[in-house]
Order: sequence, then C-alpha cells, then structure tokens
Amino acid sequence: MEKDAAVALVTGAGKGIGRAIAQMLGEKGFYVCLAFRSSRSGAEEALETICSLGGRGELVQLDVTDAAACESNLDALIKQTGRLDVLVNNAGMRKDGLMVCMKNDAWEEVMRTNLDSFFYLTRPVARQMLRQRYGRIISIGSASGQAGVAGQVNYSASKAGLMGASKALARELASRNITVNVVAPGFISTDMTEDLNMEVLIKEIPAGRPGRAEEVASLVAFLASPEASYVTGQVIGVNGGLY
Ligand code: NDP
Repeated sequence: MEKDAAVALVTGAGKGIGRAIAQMLGEKGFYVCLAFRSSRSGAEEALETICSLGGRGELVQLDVTDAAACESNLDALIKQTGRLDVLVNNAGMRKDGLMVCMKNDAWEEVMRTNLDSFFYLTRPVARQMLRQRYGRIISIGSASGQAGVAGQVNYSASKAGLMGASKALARELASRNITVNVVAPGFISTDMTEDLNMEVLIKEIPAGRPGRAEEVASLVAFLASPEASYVTGQVIGVNGGLY
C-alpha cells in the first residue's frame, strides 16, 4: 500500500450501498479494504474501478457473524497496513415477518448480522484507533430503526441497537479524536429492496423516489473525512424526507 494513505475497511463491499461506499472512499484517496462474504466478483470489480482511477486497496473475505474470524482478520489487516482510519459497518440483512409468527432463527440471524457484528468488528478496530489517536467509525443504520416498521421487529431492533451502541461508544472515544456515527438510509434501490412494492412505498417518500447507493456513500465519505472532526454520536438520515 502507499505509504501514509489513510486506510478504510468497508463490510459488505461487494454490492449495493457497501460497494458504492468503497468506490467513493477509493476515489477520495483511501486505501480501501473491501470485505465481502459471497459477492466476490462484485468486490473484485469495485477494486478494479478504484485501481483504474489511480486508487489502491485489497479484498478480504469475511463473514461478519463469525466473531473469531472478525478478530483474526482485523488483527492481520492492522499488522499489514499499520493503521486503520475508517471502519464502515455496512453488511446487513432483513428477514421480515409479523412478530407473532416469527421464528427464533429469523430474530437471531438478523441480530447477529446487523448488531453483533458491530461489536465483533468495532472492538478490535477501536483498540487500534485508540493507539493511533484517530478514527472514524460509521455504521449503516436504517429509518426502520428510527421509526419502527411493522413486519420488521427484528430488523428495527437491530438497527436501533446500532444507534444506542454508537452513541455510547462515541462518548467513550471522543476525547481521543475518534468519532462514531450512524447513517440511516430510507429506501435505497439495491438487491435488499428489490422485493418491496416501490410504487406503494414511493407515496410515503416526500422526495417522490427511492434513493441511490451513491447518495448514502456521499454522507459516509463526509463522515469519514478529517472535516467531520466535530460530528460524533449522531444518527443522520439519508431518506428523501421519509423520516
Ligand atoms: P444488499 O442486500 O445489496 O447487500 C447486503 C450486503 O451485506 C452484501 O454485501 C452482503 O455480502 C453483506 N452481508 C450480509 N450478511 C453478511 C455476513 N454475514 N457477513 C458479511 N457480509 C454480509 O443490501 P444494501 O446494500 O441495500 O444494504 C447495505 C446496508 O444498508 C445494510 O446494513 C442494510 O440494512 C442497510 N440499509 C439498506 C436500505 C435499503 O433501502 N437498501 C435502507 C436502510 C438500511 P455478500 O453479498 O458478499 O454476501
């Protein structure tokens, strides 16, 4: 990697919002570690795009629900790069259904993927950021965690959990030049929203359209920058006025 380039790790970087974030951070000059689980070709394409624009990065295969793998991958990465400036906790999933009918595994899988992963990844990263006295931790929440959505008790809970955890951690790390924030998208056109009836949902969005992954990435890129030094403990919506 280029000496002195700031290093960013983005989870779920092989597609959707995570891929847009990884590409934008690459364009901004970060050395980007693109973590993927199954979307290897998407992550490879994103890295190729970054490199074609003069940027640098690498791929990391990682299941964010695997606590031991998170710890060991992070340790290895930090040993190799020597620093980690930005963590974007983006990987996430939904498994919707009314709570009275919800199976235990739908609750557990969503909580493990969306919330437990925050702990598994952010703990080793925060230790490194404390050592270097600089860091930006950004997690992708959701308007569902802010408003609560029927049929998404598990998902809303996991995203609300991210908000509470980030606000508490922001207080623990603020004096060391480390910020912790949540970006909360509304409806963004990705594979995750493909099964939703957008025609009906659009009526609820004041902007009259779903968002684009790049519109989420722009806010993440700002929060990842040195210019966002006094923004911490915040939940910032990217939702076209939905919430
Ligand atoms: P996608 O379904 O397109 O992407 C989901 C990403 O999460 C994939 O890259 C996937 O990796 C990764 N992922 C899921 N489970 C795991 C796991 N166990 N380990 C590692 N990676 C995993 O969705 P979006 O891009 O739309 O979503 C990105 C984030 O934004 C999520 O946290 C989502 O909750 C949030 N969000 C999305 C909204 C939307 O409207 N789209 C609205 C609000 C929030 P892989 O493909 O490699 O397996």
